[in-house]
Amino acid sequence: MKKSFIIMLVTLLISQGALSQQQICTTDSIKNWLNFLASDEMKGRANGSEEIETVAMWLSVKYKEYGLQTFAGLDNFIQPYILDGDSSFVHKNVIGYIPAKEKQNNNDSFVVLSAHFDHLGIHSKYAVNGDSIFNGANDNASGVVAMLAIAKNLYEHNIKPDCPIVFAAFSNEEMGGLGSAYFCNSGVVPIQKMKVNVNFEMLGRTDEYGKNTFYISGTKFSNLQDIVVDFNRDTSWKIAETGDLADMLFEYADNIILVKCASEAGVCVPAHSFFVSGVRNSDMHRPNDEVEFIDFENLNNVVAHFTQLIIHLASKNVEIKCN
Ligand SMILES: [Zn+2]
Repeated sequence: MKKSFIIMLVTLLISQGALSQQQICTTDSIKNWLNFLASDEMKGRANGSEEIETVAMWLSVKYKEYGLQTFAGLDNFIQPYILDGDSSFVHKNVIGYIPAKEKQNNNDSFVVLSAHFDHLGIHSKYAVNGDSIFNGANDNASGVVAMLAIAKNLYEHNIKPDCPIVFAAFSNEEMGGLGSAYFCNSGVVPIQKMKVNVNFEMLGRTDEYGKNTFYISGTKFSNLQDIVVDFNRDTSWKIAETGDLADMLFEYADNIILVKCASEAGVCVPAHSFFVSGVRNSDMHRPNDEVEFIDFENLNNVVAHFTQLIIHLASKNVEIKCN
């Protein structure tokens, strides 16, 4: 009873208009989604499992709910692919987009948001206190729910961006970025037309760098960090001081796959990952990467801030260039 009243109230506040940090998204949905993705029932979302199929289907239902469009040549939001010619399991990326405010002309470009939804499954060899499920709450259920919540925010506030925004949930990141490589090589979004790739990784834990901070991998690769620092200026958000970590991590997420794919095509795409969590105390790639360590209050604020930031990056007057 109480809960439904709060939901009603929040819905009312949101529907009354302006996009403010507190009103932008209810913690409830983010929490519920993350609890689902990182539940023991999802068995660590291993590639090739029944559970990752369930997650892919769930994501495509959500994409539909939030008004995303499907790409030409695909019947729905699922982008199927097989690995090493083995058709016994059809892997899936889940991709869709929000079209631009005005009709596209040929020079228009896409903002590509991405997050990987696979994780490492179950490994009894690495069990901690009898728990062998690698839930992957931070890595990377947190990135997936953030991406989805941005789609929800844009839909509920009827925001039409200057350039189209792609939502790409990748599988097989933990196997070396095979899902993002397939997406890039498929040409569904021509690499020449990617304005920027913002890839979300490990947004859920604040134990290392605290609240209201995040960092961008590959600080010097493009002018993106400068743009974000400018954007943060009148807010409570700061770029975390990570030493060498931010530059090191540039090589270890789906963004680097897009960078390489672009370079093979003779172009440079500013493709970076956004992190909140560090890697030192984050239980990364261990069964302890559990929901109980997620800072939902901060994650909710991250989503509100990133929603505004993505709208900004999608605007016509923001030019993002490789250095
Ligand atoms: Zn991982």
